[in-house]
Amino acid sequence: MNRPPLWYLSGRLAAFRGNIHGFLGKQAFLPNPGVLWHRARKLVWMEQVHGDTIQVVTRAMLAGKESQVRVPRTDGLITNLPGVVLVVRTADCVPLLAFDPVSHAVACVHAGWKGTALDIQGRLVERFERDLGIPPRRLVVAIGPHIGPCCYEIKQDVASVFHEKGLSGCLEKRNAKIYLDLGMASRLLLERAGVPSVQIDTLRLCTGRLHVPFASFRRDGLSGLENASFIVKVSHGPVERRRLSLVP
Ligand SMILES: [Zn+2]
Repeated sequence: MNRPPLWYLSGRLAAFRGNIHGFLGKQAFLPNPGVLWHRARKLVWMEQVHGDTIQVVTRAMLAGKESQVRVPRTDGLITNLPGVVLVVRTADCVPLLAFDPVSHAVACVHAGWKGTALDIQGRLVERFERDLGIPPRRLVVAIGPHIGPCCYEIKQDVASVFHEKGLSGCLEKRNAKIYLDLGMASRLLLERAGVPSVQIDTLRLCTGRLHVPFASFRRDGLSGLENASFIVKVSHGPVERRRLSLVP
């Protein structure tokens, strides 16, 4: 039997040295940061609430001794601090990982249908520009394993929301049922926000079908297991090499 890989990679993100990232299958507990990268000291995860709040992780947020930090009521994190592992947990929703090849800043986002309808993808791009001065054309974004349009049946009320947002192209009708392509919606919203199409990488792995290795809420219900996607900045961009040191 073929064993699944330890974690999946985005070819686009892996082409750059400034980050380490991965899309892990179902986990009961989040791993310690040192397991994901030997120099990592902090792992930051979110109390995900299907909103559109993005926060920039600062040194002040990492002040305690704990190796894991939970950020309340947030669905996206950005950081320019090396050695800080950002984690998004999903079980069908879309995990997004983002990277700036110049500064090596990284981000993770939880994007289910609600966050996508709120355009959390656009919020992410805005915050990169506003808070870190990183223009959309520099961003490289990976759209991780999520429930595909093969499995993600939705009702008319959700479909109407996507029609209203100009995302009708993400809806598929088959046998009088409606299916939503959440990954395509993320891609379209990132492109609308100015991220070049060639810098967006979609991993075509459906959590609904791939019960090894992925958790799926639609298939399994509340199993206590979730997929964990992570990204960490591992080295300084040229601009800030002299100013920053590894956290803590
Ligand atoms: Zn599927």
